[in-house]
Amino acid sequence: ELLQLWTRSDEYHNSFLIKPDAVLEAVQKNTKEKGIDYEIAVSPAQGKFLNLLLLSIGAKRVLEVGSLGGYSAIWMARALPDGGEVVALELEQLHAQTIEENVKNAGLSSKVKVIVGPAHQSMKDMHPQTPFDFVFIDADKENNTNYFIEAKRLIRKGGIIIVDNVGRRGRPADPSSTDSSIEGVRELLRYIKDDTEVEATTIHTVGEKGFDGFLGVPGVPPQAALQE
Ligand code: SAM
Repeated sequence: ELLQLWTRSDEYHNSFLIKPDAVLEAVQKNTKEKGIDYEIAVSPAQGKFLNLLLLSIGAKRVLEVGSLGGYSAIWMARALPDGGEVVALELEQLHAQTIEENVKNAGLSSKVKVIVGPAHQSMKDMHPQTPFDFVFIDADKENNTNYFIEAKRLIRKGGIIIVDNVGRRGRPADPSSTDSSIEGVRELLRYIKDDTEVEATTIHTVGEKGFDGFLGVPGVPPQAALQE
């Protein structure tokens, strides 16, 4: 019943703020037809929020960890100028093929590059000449801390790291929840608490995806930012 309430509210706000979008509807349809659980993609409001964040920092290079069918990657690629790129890390071959198809149908092939394989290894193998402006972490939650450590290495000063699904219906705060994905959120929180280089905050969200949250971190030690 709460989910209905939140979904109705999301849809109400979207009806003013997000135009009907045949491209993204086709992405969802194609992803679903492949038998992929497209429900775990971000919502339209969250996708647009990522898009606006990228526009606000003038992002050109984006790293996405966990891409499913490319729904959030497309929202983000749309914010990039010519020459900009979303590098999408995805474990599953079927998902990777679906991302390629969806991105092509969206006319964004030149702006999205998919790397197939375990994302932690793909990140460790990266030594980009130009760091990323933005990293969106949305894969297996058990590896949240590994992804966060690599994201910090790969991001430019003043960039932004966002970690999805940290609210998880409040379960990280519930001691009786012990599954590994919940433990992955707790481990990241403990890690950030002890990390003297970053400041972060969690914004809990409710909406058509239920009760969840984004954790946001500027990719720069705040002290260093002040000194410059
Ligand atoms: N960001 C996508 C969106 O909003 O449209 C949703 C991503 S979905 C929640 C998580 C994705 O992470 C799945 O496609 C899954 O295959 C992928 N994944 C899981 N473990 C992974 C790993 N070790 N390396 C790379 N991708 C992984």
